[in-house]
Amino acid sequence: MRAQQILALKLRRLPAVGETPGLIILTVDVSQGVEPPRQVGALTDVALRGRLGHYDLHSANELAAIRKALQPERGQITIHETWSGLGSCLRFWHDFVGSQIRPVEWICEGCAAVNRQNVGSSVGETSSHSCKCGRIERITASSPLTLNSLARPVVEGG
Ligand SMILES: [Zn+2]
Repeated sequence: MRAQQILALKLRRLPAVGETPGLIILTVDVSQGVEPPRQVGALTDVALRGRLGHYDLHSANELAAIRKALQPERGQITIHETWSGLGSCLRFWHDFVGSQIRPVEWICEGCAAVNRQNVGSSVGETSSHSCKCGRIERITASSPLTLNSLARPVVEGG
């Protein structure tokens, strides 16, 4: 059996987008602080809850503390999980069934900037993203079976 490794996962709440609470950015320290932590992606609350509850790695008290820490904008907390290695930890957080992290790219209709983010949201869930110019884009995660995994909502008369 491989040695177990305790990994530090940092969760940080992004500023709210309009009325919607911001997504939660997950970064993992991959080098004991030598290099900047690696950003895994931005998760919705649903996507985060599913992962945190999956293996019973966190006690009810810890889950409550995480929720509380992430309530305010820019709230953050570091959690620790024991894994057989960095690879299995990243695979779990990245490929979690039902809310896999996928690259999302959209062109802002206001300023034409190309925005990119790796987003983990449940199928059918809509997440809000704001461009640097302030314009808000709402993106709905569709079925993982379709090729274009994250489609823009249909805009009537567009
Ligand atoms: Zn823009």
